[in-house]
Amino acid sequence: MFSKILCLCSIIFLLATGITADPVWVVTPNSQKTIETQTFEGFTYISTTELIKIADGERAPSSLKRKESVKMWNKVFVLTLLSQYMVCEGQTYNLILPTKYENNNLYVPFKSFFKIASDIVGTESSFADDTLFIGIKRDAVSDNNDAAIYKKEKKDKYVIVIDPGHGGKDPGAIGPNKTYEKDIVLSVGLKLKKLLEKSGKWEVILTRSKDVFISLGERARIANEAKADLFVSIHCNGSEKSKARGSECYYLSPAKNDEGRATAALENSSLLLEEDPIVTSIDEVEFMLADMLQNEFLRESSHLAVIIQDGFEKKAPFPARKVNYAPFYVLYNAFMPSVLVEMAFITNKEDEKLLKKDDVQDKLASTIKEGLEKFRTEFLDIE
Ligand SMILES: [Zn+2]
Repeated sequence: MFSKILCLCSIIFLLATGITADPVWVVTPNSQKTIETQTFEGFTYISTTELIKIADGERAPSSLKRKESVKMWNKVFVLTLLSQYMVCEGQTYNLILPTKYENNNLYVPFKSFFKIASDIVGTESSFADDTLFIGIKRDAVSDNNDAAIYKKEKKDKYVIVIDPGHGGKDPGAIGPNKTYEKDIVLSVGLKLKKLLEKSGKWEVILTRSKDVFISLGERARIANEAKADLFVSIHCNGSEKSKARGSECYYLSPAKNDEGRATAALENSSLLLEEDPIVTSIDEVEFMLADMLQNEFLRESSHLAVIIQDGFEKKAPFPARKVNYAPFYVLYNAFMPSVLVEMAFITNKEDEKLLKKDDVQDKLASTIKEGLEKFRTEFLDIE
């Protein structure tokens, strides 16, 4: 009787939290057992406590807080709280969905974890009818897993996500004549969308088309969910040095210089405006990203940055700076070639004046568009 009440209580509790528990049957060549999984927002997750039961693994201690290591099949998988990236033997893998933390347990996206882990271990794994098969060959496996990892393939229309930075309560950098970065970047973003759509060669998604606040994580999530081929975040730079001016294009990598570090700190500071910020100071972000940076798209992203920067140099009415790289949170979470464009310094009087002009905004949009088309012919359209 008592256990029935307990059971009922836990069902009520689970319903109340929106989490549902589902048993999964795990079949390996030498064992069969049941493990518990949980559904969060429609996706199946497994706690690390349940996970290690599958392969008689162990939770390896990690000195860094926010991380948990799981040792299974002689491999150590390092998971990070609220991150979709998992590290194993120095390689970073994308779980597509971030880990969750509930009831003192770290939860991992179930299907993508096994898809990645079995690739690493070199075994077969498949999931069908509430049964996970490990190390057993099986035909006709349903392919509806939630780990659809970025795939480069030739397409008629590529999906591009354009991300006008900031918005709503986050004005971004502010010019000496009170021009807001959020307004300029939205205007250029809308122009760029129009131009790309007119060409008929792109499917364009904007992370925002009006003056609203969107978290950095949400912007990347939009791109990941759309399985975008490219991600372009549009910004205006800001500096305490009022003389600093010009266009600059960034890709994601640990910062090599103070300028890159300062720009990244400025753009990452939107994190502090989020309702439930993941960091309390902006210095934490660089530290946090440093050991998590994946460079899967480094080559493509850096080329895209070079191509767009080259266009700025030739066509934009701003002094051209050079391609730079720094740890931008918004790019770190986007799993596709991605760049962050700093069109000019809004904190510089001349740059600000130019940025406000409609014809200059047209020029900026068309320069970015031409860069994207060049990248398309050189990198996307090749087999
Ligand atoms: Zn910005």
